[in-house]
Amino acid sequence: MKPGDVISYLEMCSEEGANLQRGMNFHLRSNYSVILMSLRPGAPYADRIEADGRVLIYEGHDAPRNATNPYPKQIDQPMSNPSGTLTQNGQFYQAATSYKKGIKGAELIKVYEKIHSGIWVYNGIFRLIEAWQEESNNRKVFKFRLELSDKLADANTDRELVDHNRLIPKEVKLEVWRRDKGRCVICGSKDNLHFDHIIPYSKGGSSLVAENIQLLCARHNIAKKDKIE
Ligand SMILES: [Zn+2]
Repeated sequence: MKPGDVISYLEMCSEEGANLQRGMNFHLRSNYSVILMSLRPGAPYADRIEADGRVLIYEGHDAPRNATNPYPKQIDQPMSNPSGTLTQNGQFYQAATSYKKGIKGAELIKVYEKIHSGIWVYNGIFRLIEAWQEESNNRKVFKFRLELSDKLADANTDRELVDHNRLIPKEVKLEVWRRDKGRCVICGSKDNLHFDHIIPYSKGGSSLVAENIQLLCARHNIAKKDKIE
């Protein structure tokens, strides 16, 4: 799977070999974690993109709602469970702290973003480099700083990956999705879609404007790449 690929929820679960119910999945595999994000209006958490798409600030998650905790948004996001084990917040926090102290390498995190009901985009692999707690509406929330992995840019010369050295903002993805009606602009296919840079990022094309992004199916994405090279 490449950054910018559009997938369904089921395809995402099948890619990860897991039934992804939670937003935060620390060490889902031995060598990486998975997070699900959403920047949609009304999304439950305040995730944001910074530094022209290279940095993602991801918010930690609330305690589960239950009989003893009917209003999770009114209490601090928990570091530990009642049993004393670390929550997902705590596990990601500990990994970021270990990285900062030089004890461990940065945790690698695959990021999936929901742009519309049933429509997800794979955003690539990020490194977890910092975690902190901050005040938000009179309570403490966790924040995690994720940077797009440099490995992505260094380890290959694939135009797609270079293009996705910057995240396409969600507003742009949604605008393109609506404009192209969720179909490949060449053949109208609704399968294996990908957000394609019309002018490649490596040739000065922007990730930030819908005019430079289009939906292509896998077949036409590859055909275009062959033509350019
Ligand atoms: Zn096509």
